[in-house]
Amino acid sequence: MARIVQKYGGTSVGDVDRIKNVANRIKVARDAGNELVVVVSARAGVTNELIARAKAVNPNPSEREMDQLLAIGEQETIALTAMALHGVGVEAVSMTGAQAGITTDKVYTKAKIKGINAKALERDLKAGKVIIVAGFQGIDDEGQTTTLGRGGSDLTAIALAAAVKADKCEIYTDVDGVYTADPRVVKDAKKLNEISYDEMLELASLGSKVMQTRSVEFAAKYNVVFEVRSSFNNNPGTIVKQEVAYMEKIVVRGVAVDKDQAKVVVSNIADKPGTAAKVFRALADANVNVDMIVQNVGRGGVANLTFTVPLTEKDKAQRSLAPVLKAVGGEVAVDEKIAKLSVVGVGMRTHSGVAATLFDALAKAGINLELISTSEIKISVVIAKDQADEAARVAHKAFELDKL
Ligand code: ASP
Ligand code: MG
Repeated sequence: MARIVQKYGGTSVGDVDRIKNVANRIKVARDAGNELVVVVSARAGVTNELIARAKAVNPNPSEREMDQLLAIGEQETIALTAMALHGVGVEAVSMTGAQAGITTDKVYTKAKIKGINAKALERDLKAGKVIIVAGFQGIDDEGQTTTLGRGGSDLTAIALAAAVKADKCEIYTDVDGVYTADPRVVKDAKKLNEISYDEMLELASLGSKVMQTRSVEFAAKYNVVFEVRSSFNNNPGTIVKQEVAYMEKIVVRGVAVDKDQAKVVVSNIADKPGTAAKVFRALADANVNVDMIVQNVGRGGVANLTFTVPLTEKDKAQRSLAPVLKAVGGEVAVDEKIAKLSVVGVGMRTHSGVAATLFDALAKAGINLELISTSEIKISVVIAKDQADEAARVAHKAFELDKL
């Protein structure tokens, strides 16, 4: 008997038949004598629909009301999943984030989990019930409903696995695991048997779309080993953990493309101490996530700052910069037609020439590099969005990931 936390994503619970399929999978694990806490997302597309509806009634909706609204997507699927389990003779109970004891800070739409009071969970596990928990939501200490940021059901699952000291944490999705690239774009992408938190983190944050970044950070911090696998078959998935044994010659593990980024150029600002600080303070105060910052060499007393932000935060970024630019001069322009391509691998720590190989391959394909940034285990470039898929295929081939 093991204690297992499972998480089923939006596609896995996308319609009535799929919810029944999930219920049958849960039943198999339960009949084998395991204790189960199951996290589900909203049906695929529901969260997006709710956001669209919110924007239709008000282009700039209150974040508190947004969380009130978005939390209902998961509340539908927990109840339906519990009902489906009852239908196949499994004792089950659904819980909202609040009922499961998940407390968060007060940052609406991207709240952080502060703690989990596992009392109710332990009580119902002891009573032999399968518990179905709504992903992506929690409650702050004043009783307000909060959500954990897009893709936040992953975080719910990892945090619950830590809180109930699960023996296993299984993240069920619509792909067989973590691939060397998005298999929908790069046809010969290969599934990885294992990957380290560091690499997974880079791939998740770079738009490999497999998991929410914060959930992987949380797993690394609390050392939660988890497996990413498909809810549509029984193939083994990818194990994500601290240390992974690698073959020496593997330098790059994966290629990721993020098309949900925008490039912000702040031009003609005063080239003097404190300008950049004012710009990024304003963005930080508005909770805008900034990435890939480049400042050019100042000329004639003015300088340009270029950086990327998530597409969803570009309006907020622009709004928060308006008062600063009034004070220090300058203009702001936003370019949405960009994408970020990255190659990732812990092998880069000990190998040279990775950048040259990547830039060479992209140049041969006629792909222009707008911004470049590097870290110990990754190289990222900003390129035109309409060239992003081609760039992923070119990079994948350049590092021979098809031959893994
Ligand atoms: N339903 C939420 C979203 O679409 C949370 C999740 O699916 O993990 O972002
Ligand atoms: Mg998801």
